Amino acid sequence: MASTTGTSRKRLRSDTAATSREETVQSNTVDNPTPWERVDEIWYEDGNVILVVENKAFRVYQGLLSRHSPVFRDMFKIPQPETAESEDRCPIVRLSGDTAADWVHVLRISLQRAGSLWHAPLCSRLAVVRIGHKYEMNFLRDQALKHLKQVFTDRFPDFDNVEDHLCAFSVEARIYDAIAAVNLSRLTGEISMLPFALYVCCQLHDELVHGCEEGGLLEKLAPEDIVRCVTGKTKLAQANAAAFFRTFLWGEYYSLCCKDNCEQAFHEIITHLGQDSDNHVADSTPLEAWSFAITNYYRTKLCTTCLRRLREKERFERVRIWDSLPSYFNVDLPTWPKTGILPPLPELV
Ligand SMILES: [Zn+2]
Repeated sequence: MASTTGTSRKRLRSDTAATSREETVQSNTVDNPTPWERVDEIWYEDGNVILVVENKAFRVYQGLLSRHSPVFRDMFKIPQPETAESEDRCPIVRLSGDTAADWVHVLRISLQRAGSLWHAPLCSRLAVVRIGHKYEMNFLRDQALKHLKQVFTDRFPDFDNVEDHLCAFSVEARIYDAIAAVNLSRLTGEISMLPFALYVCCQLHDELVHGCEEGGLLEKLAPEDIVRCVTGKTKLAQANAAAFFRTFLWGEYYSLCCKDNCEQAFHEIITHLGQDSDNHVADSTPLEAWSFAITNYYRTKLCTTCLRRLREKERFERVRIWDSLPSYFNVDLPTWPKTGILPPLPELV
């Protein structure tokens, strides 16, 4: 908890429903300073302010912080009393309710070029949104949100296959980062990220309920979002099984066109995939494509027409689920776009 004895306390945003962080910036008096250790990577000898977060200290520049944040700009305008904590004539500002790990990400990006955000791992972008929102660093926050919205997209063509999609953005993305994405979606009002972030959370096990701790921060879903995921998992598993049978059951959809051995091949496919030990048919991952199995194991068993129809049908079923994704989590989101005409599937090589 923050002390109220600071000499330049400033209230920040009050809309932090997803976190319980105390929101204060303060320069402590020297009455009872707690020890800290410098972070060499972010310690500039010509810096003119020392930020202390938890027990870590960063020596940076007031001008840099002021440029990004009106909160710091206003604070630096207030003259500090002689009793204010300082070292080497450099004022010390203690930040409460934040983690040092988050500030490492934010300061690294602030001190580098703005473009460095493009190459930052997902956890950096999450930290920038979290800290940027709290300290009104709107430019940095909006840039990071833009990146996050590309990962937690609302458009099927940008997504198409969950594993490929997440890998395309950052090899350092972890499934449990989706918990932070849900919380930041609520914090910033960027609700378009919510359905896919909740979908990814549904792939979590114990972390779904207990959250995940990293860098001193326990990121946890709010109880109502845990409920959304628990009920959503069941609905997704049902949708997955239904989509599987609609895709692979031999029927009129395929039989209009072709030879007897295709019917036999479809029976084989549904038997093999249905008996898969990982049980992908009935898990809560209906947005994962079957394209790998289709193109690597079954393409030679089907005629060209059936193979094309199967690939189109497989994508169509995933689009159907994607377009209804908010409803699986009982999220009212009228702006969730309906998928229009998609480009033809690429030729198989
Ligand atoms: Zn056929």
